Amino acid sequence: MICPVCGAVYRPTKTSKEVGGDEVVSISPPSLTCRRCKADLSDLICLHDQAIWYHRQALYLLSQGRYSEAEADNNSAIALHYSNADFHALAGKLEALQGKFREAISEWQQALKFDPQNAIACNCLQMIKG
Ligand SMILES: [Zn+2]
Repeated sequence: MICPVCGAVYRPTKTSKEVGGDEVVSISPPSLTCRRCKADLSDLICLHDQAIWYHRQALYLLSQGRYSEAEADNNSAIALHYSNADFHALAGKLEALQGKFREAISEWQQALKFDPQNAIACNCLQMIKG
């Protein structure tokens, strides 16, 4: 995630260290401010978490074969966080599963715009074109 004020990359303040082969994870209280400009990012982080929640919900519904419900939840995720390639890749998959290939292709192309390495979008587009 990127701070909209100064453009610094925001990372949750969770640090993990390897100590003598054992992984020690120390979790400090989450910092909800930008480490560079100190802008309050709590609303944004909340939105981001919500988007991830909808996306996970969509993946679950997909595994249950409930494609149209999954698509609705995934669309909510996209509405909250438009520039996430995984959300668009999943949207494409759900549309393809419902026979909407034209929409599926445009979602995968969108996913590749945000993340040219996105594996799902690459594979699916290759399958359709090949
Ligand atoms: Zn900032």
